Formats: sequence, C-alpha cells, structure tokens
Amino acid sequence: MSFWWSQVERAAPRPALDGSIEADVCIVGAGYTGLWTAYYLKRAQPALRVVMLEQRFAGYGASGRNGGWLANSITGGREQYVARHGRAAVARFQQLANETVDEVIRVAAAEGIDADIHKGGEFTIATDAAQLGRLRAFADAERQWPESGVQLLTAREAAARIDVAGVQGGVWHPHTARIHPAKLVGGLRDAVLRLGVELFEGTHVESIEPHHALTRRGVVTAPVVVRATEGFTAGFPRFHREWMPLNSSLVVTAPLPESVWAEIGWQGRETLGDMAHAYMYAQRTADDRIAFGGRGKPYRYGSGIDADGRTPAATVAELGALIERFWPVLRGVRLDHAWSGVLGVPRDWSATVGLDRASGLAWAGGYVGTGVASSNLAGRTLADLILERDSELVTLPWVGHRVRKWEPEPLRWVAVQALYALYHAADRAEANGRPTTSPLARLADLVSGHR
Ligand SMILES: Cc1cc2nc3c(=O)[nH]c(=O)nc-3n(C[C@H](O)[C@H](O)[C@H](O)COP(=O)(O)OP(=O)(O)OC[C@H]3O[C@@H](n4cnc5c(N)ncnc54)[C@H](O)[C@@H]3O)c2cc1C
Repeated sequence: MSFWWSQVERAAPRPALDGSIEADVCIVGAGYTGLWTAYYLKRAQPALRVVMLEQRFAGYGASGRNGGWLANSITGGREQYVARHGRAAVARFQQLANETVDEVIRVAAAEGIDADIHKGGEFTIATDAAQLGRLRAFADAERQWPESGVQLLTAREAAARIDVAGVQGGVWHPHTARIHPAKLVGGLRDAVLRLGVELFEGTHVESIEPHHALTRRGVVTAPVVVRATEGFTAGFPRFHREWMPLNSSLVVTAPLPESVWAEIGWQGRETLGDMAHAYMYAQRTADDRIAFGGRGKPYRYGSGIDADGRTPAATVAELGALIERFWPVLRGVRLDHAWSGVLGVPRDWSATVGLDRASGLAWAGGYVGTGVASSNLAGRTLADLILERDSELVTLPWVGHRVRKWEPEPLRWVAVQALYALYHAADRAEANGRPTTSPLARLADLVSGHR
C-alpha cells in the first residue's frame, strides 16, 4: 500500500453488501470522484438514498496513493475546447478549476479534515536546454491565459526556490496546493458517512448496467448509477477499451534534517515537476520528506494493474537515482517506502464527466494524473446533472465529452511500449546535450494522441 496509508490509521471497514437493495443513486468506487459526488448530493438533498459500492476500502485506488498535487489543471489542455466552445467559456473553465483548489481547502476546513494542506503553488523546472525550450514555449502559451497565473523564472530565481542541480529555468503559479492524499480521502469518507451515505466496502461490482450495479452479493437498482472507478475501469468488459490504465510509482525519503533543507531550499512547499517527457513530480511532505514520483512500468498487457501497489526494484532504483541527480546532497539517502497506483487515460488524454439520462449511466474520470482537484469539480458537476440543476457547471466544455476507444491488444501493448521507449530515449538525448526537443518525442506524441 502507499506510504500515505502507512501514516494513517484506517477506520474499521464498513460491511459488504448483503442482498439486493434500491437506492436513488448508486456510486461504484469510493475514491475522490465517488466520495465528492456523494458529498454534494447529500448536501443538496439530505433525504436522497445514496449507496456506494467499493471493492476494497475507500481510498484504495489512486486517491490514497497519488503525489498530493491539488492542482488547477484542465486535463488535456485548454486549446482543444476553444474551437467548439469559444475562448471566454474556456477561460471561465480555468477560473473554475482555480476555484476548485480553494473549494477543496474550504470543505476540508469545514469538515475538520486535516490533510496537511499547504498552498505554495506549482513549480516546474527545466534541467537541460531542450527542456528549457519547452518551458519557454509553455510560458508563452500560458501568457495568453491570464487566469493561469504562470510566471517565468530565470535559472537563479528558480534555484532560489528549490535548488535542483543544473536547473536552467522554471515557471511558477499560485493555484496548486500540496496535500496528504490518504488524510483527504479518509476524511471525506468520514464526512459522507456523517451525511448518511451508505457505503459498502469489500464489494466488487461485476458489471454496471442501465439502472443496475451487479455484484455477487446482490444487485443495487437505482435511477442513476455512477461509474467512479477511473484507472480500474478497464476491468469491466463493457468499458474495457475506454480508459487505458497507466501505472505510476513514487518513493519517499526518510525525514530530512534542517541542514539539508538549508541547502535545498523548498521553503515555499511548492509542488515540484519538470519538463522531461517521462516527467517527475514531487512534494515536500508535512514531516519534511521528499515524496518523488514518475512513470515506472507504465502499462501492463491487457490493461492489467499493479498488485496492491507493489513496485519493481528497477523503478525504485530509477527514482532514487533521479533524486540523487537532482540533489547531490542526498547521495545515499534512505528511501522509506515505494508504491504504485493506477490512473485512467482516455484516447485523447482529456477528462470527462457526464450522465446519459436514458440509461441512467453517469461517469467521471480520465483525469490522467490531475484528478485530485478535478474529481471535486466532477463530483459537483455530477451532483448537478443528477439533480437536474440548471447550473453553470453542467455547461462546462468537458461535460459529455466523448472520444474513441483505445486500440485492442496486442496493438495497444506494442504501441505503449514503443511510446515510453521513445520518451525515455528522447529524455536521454536531451540530457546528453541535444539542444531542442528530440524528434523521437514528437513521434511519440503523434502516436499517443497526447498534446
Ligand atoms: C501514483 C499516482 C500519482 C498521482 N499523482 C497525482 C497528483 O499529484 N495530482 C493529481 O491531481 N492527480 C494525481 N494522480 C491521479 C489521481 O490520484 C486520480 O486521478 C484520482 O485519485 C482519481 O480518483 P477516482 O476516485 O476517480 O479513482 P480512484 O481513486 O482510483 O478510485 C476508484 C475506486 O473504485 C474502486 N473500484 C474499482 N473497480 C471497482 C469495482 N469493479 N467494484 C467496486 N469498486 C471498484 C477502487 O477500489 C477504487 O477505490 C495520481 C495517480 C497515481 C496513480
């Protein structure tokens, strides 16, 4: 399991479903998406019977394992929506994504959830010339969207924030906070239980059908069934090729002494990422460790997922080596924990939320590594869709967004292996002095439909 869960005492499990029942809304999956949806539904209509079905325990999935970036990202980028929805609508979408970060912070405070939240902004660095080129282009593009709040930093300014070896420049914006993922998801579970949501844990859903969720322990019948299973979605034959499960891995260092922080900086507790193709993401934890993640073994044949977060030794070594390259002062540092999780990637790398009224099937996900905040916006949007509220949220560009399915195996496996081989080769070439983005990476982008 994740380091985050090792720091938190898990609540006693809720009982499994025992027989067939009826509900107003049935939610499959108790991660952030399912829990936020349940939360806003019950806040709006306390009498609603909301039933949640979770195969293991609330927060078992990515919501209890992620890097803890509560970020304002629009998954897949803004530009894709401009032609159809217009610039003003997309700018408003960004504004709402910014506000979503504050909404999570607000609810956490209101519900007494101490999730180690610190809003220090999001900091992205370039550590070679090709990365710097992409960083500058990114900053130029972001300037067209004042809502993004992005500032370009020189190498010196970047190093003054976090002193990463060889840093050549950076960008920073204020709309991201660091969180403790398990504390947030555990607190949300308590909050929805207080509101009277019926949560059944240890209950695997075999199939989601119009108005029904089928389990071996009984059937839940409801006008609306919400699919909130993100990276696990491929496990349902009906949705097998909808979102590709991509694995991502993290390691966490031992707590670091003040003398080390004096060298590294990181006083602002920003989230830290880079411009590599196989990018890294990190945070300084509340107990002064570095949690550091990146893609390990990204994809398993047939959309397989990791076993309870176990992580190959080669991935741990790779992440450890990158930590030492970033901060030579950490040579030989002890890594206390390594874990993996699975996230869901749609064919166009863009998240979606929606409800098909005829079948009563609702969904949200495909956040590609940005779901910590997006799931809150998705949960509020699903609540409005289900309650047929005529709100601004139900008009946002990602609502009802659909995209073609992924290719069947073995094509998908071959393509993803090739993709990551290309990204890694491009990173190596760039780190070794290639001054501009490697054509290998451009080819990989083309194959993947990414960017
Ligand atoms: C390693 C890693 C790092 C990440 N870092 C970040 C980050 O820093 N910032 C960010 O914004 N995003 C990040 N993400 C993505 C983010 O964590 C997810 O987008 C988000 O948690 C998705 O929430 P969810 O509720 O939709 O899915 P999940 O949290 O995966 O929840 C799905 C739930 O459904 C349950 N389930 C699945 N199938 C069934 C079934 N058949 N029957 C019953 N229950 C079922 C699962 O057990 C699980 O509890 C990261 C993801 C990973 C894996």
